[in-house]
Amino acid sequence: MPHLVRERLYFGDIKDAIAALTESSSTPAFTHVLSVVSSASISFITDCRPGLAIPTEEVRRVVSGEEGAPPTAAVPPGTLMRVVERAGDGLRVMRMAVPLRDTEEENLLDHIEPCLDFVDEGRKVGNVLVHCFAGVSRSASIIVAYLMRSEQKSLEEALESLKEISESACPNDGFLDQLKLFEEMGFKVDTSSPLYKRFRLKILGQSYKFGEKIGSYMFEDDPGLSPQSGSCQDSSKTEQHKTAYRCRKCRRIIAVEDNVISHVPGEGESCFDWNRRKSGRPYSNKEQDCSSLFVEPLKWMTPVEDGALEGKLSCIHCGARLGYFNWSGIQCNCGSWVTPAFQIVKSKVDISTI
Ligand SMILES: [Zn+2]
Ligand SMILES: [Zn+2]
Repeated sequence: MPHLVRERLYFGDIKDAIAALTESSSTPAFTHVLSVVSSASISFITDCRPGLAIPTEEVRRVVSGEEGAPPTAAVPPGTLMRVVERAGDGLRVMRMAVPLRDTEEENLLDHIEPCLDFVDEGRKVGNVLVHCFAGVSRSASIIVAYLMRSEQKSLEEALESLKEISESACPNDGFLDQLKLFEEMGFKVDTSSPLYKRFRLKILGQSYKFGEKIGSYMFEDDPGLSPQSGSCQDSSKTEQHKTAYRCRKCRRIIAVEDNVISHVPGEGESCFDWNRRKSGRPYSNKEQDCSSLFVEPLKWMTPVEDGALEGKLSCIHCGARLGYFNWSGIQCNCGSWVTPAFQIVKSKVDISTI
């Protein structure tokens, strides 16, 4: 039986989903089903029970790089993000299916907002079921995020509130980290925030480790190519000065402060653990003592595109050596390991404002 979480909002497993999609006389009668399982296809559900057939009619299909997917998301363009379809007898249920495995490495974060919006829409007109396979980790993560956003609860409060309803609710540790990040970003997914950028780099590092091709989607625009590198649309109002890092030899801009991925000096392997840091400026005072700067991958870093594990980074204008990259990490002189690392040696650059 699905658990009632809030008015018109239920949480359950695959059996609850089958009931919601096949029994029109069930109570409650579900109008919306959010499926967060390994495959978006309805066959994932029908395969669970021999002879089961559920009619569907596709309404919308979203792949990354298109509508609803931010350009800096940590997934290759063309990745299926979600399917919306009418399903069940008479096609009376609106189903949104998000393909997500229950592993700590999975990117939950990029799915959160569309899922919460779907739940919000559904609750306006009927009863919503959020389900995964076991009703333990994935669906619980979405419900927790929903309670966080709609009731401005911290992760801990939202999780506690859900556990009062279902003791078995237990998002995996990777999802908990991402939910914490969602809280720290103010209950939204802000792809321009330093927190998101570190998350994205971590996901890219995992993709590299799993042997996936790292395409150009991962590279941020070259700040040396745009004349007003701040992308300030309203330059009259935002006359702010941004820190820029220039090649010491030829003065070409190679990075701006937004590209810097902060690390916690002296923290060893856990430097990418976003749990430990609150959002704020991308680098702290202490980090200024470090001899290296770590940045996100940028379009001028052409050797990275060849797929090598590590290599040198040179100025694309004058060829001067600027630093190194290494997908398995580089240790800063402060002791922290940054993984993956795109490192600029500070003595090779000049800092100025633009
Ligand atoms: Zn140069
Ligand atoms: Zn350091």
